Amino acid sequence: MSHYDSIRREVLDSSRWLAEHGYLGQLSSGGNISVRVPGEKIVAITPSGKSYFLLELNDICVIDFDHKFIEGSLSPSIEAGMHIGVYKNRPDVNAVIHTHQPFASALAIINKPIPALFDEITVEIGHEVDIIPYAFSGSSELVNNVSGQLGNACHCYLIQNHGALCLGTDMQRAMKNAELLENVAKIYYHALATGEEIKRLPPAAIDYFADMRKLRFK
Ligand SMILES: [Zn+2]
Repeated sequence: MSHYDSIRREVLDSSRWLAEHGYLGQLSSGGNISVRVPGEKIVAITPSGKSYFLLELNDICVIDFDHKFIEGSLSPSIEAGMHIGVYKNRPDVNAVIHTHQPFASALAIINKPIPALFDEITVEIGHEVDIIPYAFSGSSELVNNVSGQLGNACHCYLIQNHGALCLGTDMQRAMKNAELLENVAKIYYHALATGEEIKRLPPAAIDYFADMRKLRFK
């Protein structure tokens, strides 16, 4: 037993659900997931290079914000710096999911931010799913690009030529946001393919939902 077992379990169970539902690789190990240990500068994060279906509790890594290794039988994800960058810049965020989910990734390669299109998405995710500029996976440049893009207080982003970044006040909300993002990305993709004008939410509705978000996520 470890002090971090319950939080590692949360990471393990979430990664399995996301892998089973097509958000990560099944045989490959694309994407990565982490949870902030409450009140500490420590995260539990998926390891590098092992299929999510083969992961065990002890494989989930525990590291601090300086990347000091605390627990785990494998090396942490190469994107650990990106996760830590989110936690440092967004005190409201306690869970981070990076996926290669298909429709969000499709918009990430055509460089299409997702505007405010639906009430629920705008309340849960925010007024825009913005694009984070491309940099090599695992690079300090990608960490800087992510950290520099988080000021809009939204809970989902597209990483150019890479995938999606979904945040939450807790893991359940981060997973829900990943699902909402894939749904809206799929709808937006099909709507764009028609060539017709895309109707966005009216500005008054966006302002109304922005106020609602301030109350919910203050
Ligand atoms: Zn990735």
